Amino acid sequence: MTLKKIIEDNHCIGCGLCKSISPAQINFSENSHGFLEPSLLENLPHNAEAFISEFCPGSNIDISLAPENKEDYMWGRIKKIGKAYSTSSNTRLAGSSGGVITEISAYLLAKGIVDSVYHLKSPDEGPFTFTPGISNSDDEIKKSVGSKYTASPTLLRINELLESESTKKWAVVAKPCEISAARRMVRSAKHLDENNFVFISFFCAGLPSISANKKLSSKIGIPPEDVSSIIYRGNGCPGNTIITSNTGRQASTTYKEAWGNTLGRDIHPRCKICPDGIGLDADLVCADAWDMDDSGYPSFSENEGFSLVISRTNKASAFLNGMIADDKISWAPYESSNIQYAQPSQFYRRTTLVSRILALKFLMKSPPKILGTGVSKIIFAAGLLTNIKAFAGMVKRQWRL
Ligand SMILES: Cc1cc2nc3c(=O)[nH]c(=O)nc-3n(C[C@H](O)[C@H](O)[C@H](O)COP(=O)(O)OP(=O)(O)OC[C@H]3O[C@@H](n4cnc5c(N)ncnc54)[C@H](O)[C@@H]3O)c2cc1C
Ligand code: SF4
Ligand code: SF4
Repeated sequence: MTLKKIIEDNHCIGCGLCKSISPAQINFSENSHGFLEPSLLENLPHNAEAFISEFCPGSNIDISLAPENKEDYMWGRIKKIGKAYSTSSNTRLAGSSGGVITEISAYLLAKGIVDSVYHLKSPDEGPFTFTPGISNSDDEIKKSVGSKYTASPTLLRINELLESESTKKWAVVAKPCEISAARRMVRSAKHLDENNFVFISFFCAGLPSISANKKLSSKIGIPPEDVSSIIYRGNGCPGNTIITSNTGRQASTTYKEAWGNTLGRDIHPRCKICPDGIGLDADLVCADAWDMDDSGYPSFSENEGFSLVISRTNKASAFLNGMIADDKISWAPYESSNIQYAQPSQFYRRTTLVSRILALKFLMKSPPKILGTGVSKIIFAAGLLTNIKAFAGMVKRQWRL
């Protein structure tokens, strides 16, 4: 798929990969729907178009070479699963769920398992979007703690990693679609060794727009032009969303209000056809370990913070075992059969994905190429009626676009 077609079909998630490899030919800015998107300043050379077609998460989703992911079609390969939190009370409190991704990143660096961590950092381009950076110290890693529920191009500096010395060891933290693209790029780069990389991700229900973030700030009483910073989660789990103005005034709202009623209602169209919101291609993936209420749905009740942690490779299980032995994380067993109840939206999205893709094809639109995600094997888990509704919902949404 060409870059132009990816954008026209609304498949561009704004990861920044294309801008990273062709900085002179591509401009990158917010579009009219509040998402970040590339635009061509001049035609791309043929090899750049081919590279983007192969690795752009809006064009090609290929998890078929993922390490041993075939065993559990619903939740991907599970080598080790638990409910965990960082034993540093600061990191646990500042983290989105249990601060586990931050603690792991710091541990990998401290133990020399990696030389640097590539992840999203604080915003340099205004409060509503975050840009990626490279952390080489515990302090830098800890400043990047927490979920950023807004358009953020994690792969905007991925060229630095792809052009790095062959012996350099990296941890990469990114959304599932970005991790899958990053892993495949590393695998295809002849001078790099995939074994020198640790890919870390999280469950992802979709990327909210910058417009939704502005709407949220207005709703809670700080005009978007006065916003200086947003902390989406923390100080407990799920924790409140806190927005600070340029004059230091703070306004806050609950996670349920921020995500449930505003941010989660304006997610990118590409996320609606995402076959992998669960980090199938990561070495390790974290999620919220929501408790369930009496009806069996997540209660979102406030607690000190726990992350659901899934290791998908032996490499990740080994460093998790090291962290438990060194008392860096507290660990309790978790039954994989509970994921469906703690994460009902992920269950719904994966088991109805085929119907939503069929709806796109019915409307003569081209979906991205999707390989190896297991979604065709689990279509019957949601039932026929749910899939018919998913098909109809997708058709309706596309007509509105
Ligand atoms: C857009 C989005 C949707 C999500 N949807 C779900 C969901 O449906 N179910 C669920 O259980 N969990 C979801 N999460 C994940 C959840 O919010 C926590 O991030 C996860 O539980 C890990 O928490 P932690 O305390 O271990 O991570 P922390 O220690 O707080 O570390 C978070 C790490 O993630 C990185 N990060 C944060 N936001 C982004 C981003 N937008 N893009 C790339 N990297 C980022 C940070 O830089 C940091 O390195 C979502 C997160 C995001 C950003
Ligand atoms: S998804 Fe990423 S690589 Fe693809 S067009 Fe958008 S910014 Fe470029
Ligand atoms: S839902 Fe899927 S496509 Fe959307 S940001 Fe998350 S991983 Fe990427």
